[in-house]
Amino acid sequence: RAKAEGRGRACVFAPEDEQRTLHRVNTESLLREALEGEYFELHYQPVCDLGTQRIVGAEGLVRMNHPEKGLLAPGDFIDVAEETGLIVPLGEWVLEEGARQLAQWHRELGCDITLSLNVSSKQLQSSRFAGRVAEICEKYSVPSGHLVLEITESMLMNNSDQVLDVMNRLKAQGCLLSIDDFGTGFSSLSYLQKFPLDVLKIDRAFVMDIEANETHRALVRAIVSMSEALKLRVITEGVETEGQMRCIRQQGCELGQGYYFSRPLKAAVFNEWIRSSETLSV
Ligand code: C2E
Ligand code: MG
Ligand code: MG
Ligand code: MG
Repeated sequence: RAKAEGRGRACVFAPEDEQRTLHRVNTESLLREALEGEYFELHYQPVCDLGTQRIVGAEGLVRMNHPEKGLLAPGDFIDVAEETGLIVPLGEWVLEEGARQLAQWHRELGCDITLSLNVSSKQLQSSRFAGRVAEICEKYSVPSGHLVLEITESMLMNNSDQVLDVMNRLKAQGCLLSIDDFGTGFSSLSYLQKFPLDVLKIDRAFVMDIEANETHRALVRAIVSMSEALKLRVITEGVETEGQMRCIRQQGCELGQGYYFSRPLKAAVFNEWIRSSETLSV
């Protein structure tokens, strides 16, 4: 198309393409610089029991803290990290940092929360992935059954045989597995049953308007009862207000995550948050 017409013309005909290429090239070098300079940080957002309002777990969310550009959210770089394969070293860093933190919480704070980490499809497709997870868990003495790996619904639907194989290995190693952003893909109920899942996270799209939208309330109730049948725990994402929290609880949801409880926090702030809330379960 426009490309065949020469560089100057391409700019006229497809400015978005050109911009996307530029963004990609810039972001790729930014990612390399950040990996090299160790500019990444893992922030932690609590997952809370809607009945007791206590923390039961956390999700680790990566950020880039660039000396000149400041704090960048995953939306600014994750896509490019996936396209370029840089998500593999970045994902290893996330796993290692998360495992280290999880073991420390258990050891020093004496609290037995779980930690969920997001895994990209590139990582899951690597034959080394399950082995690396095992090595890292061993290295930091991660308490078994407390590391949760989150996989999006769309990842289950592509390359499902290979993904299933890796998931079975992770499961055998003692990891818990979670399906993220549930409800945005098109997986069927019977399809979910193929995978060794422990947790299902309902996408925040259902929560945003839950108080006004009877269809979304009904869908959330249906997902909850389906999850009971499949023996999955349910976490509702994106809970921002007390009204939404009450409403999802009324639909039978047990656990929630969102700004209502807390934004994702730097490790030191999160640790304070844990200390000051009555969560110590020992
Ligand atoms: P996700 O795994 O679905 O994570 C939830 C996202 O929703 C996070 O955005 C979180 O900050 C945001 N969030 C939490 N509560 C609320 C709320 O009440 N309202 C609203 N509007 N948003 C809320 P974040 O941190 O920008 O991450 C975006 C996505 O980037 C994540 O979605 C995940 O898919 C990806 N991601 C984050 N960290 C990693 C990572 O270490 N590895 C990989 N592969 N992907 C990651
Ligand atoms: Mg997630
Ligand atoms: Mg999600
Ligand atoms: Mg998401």
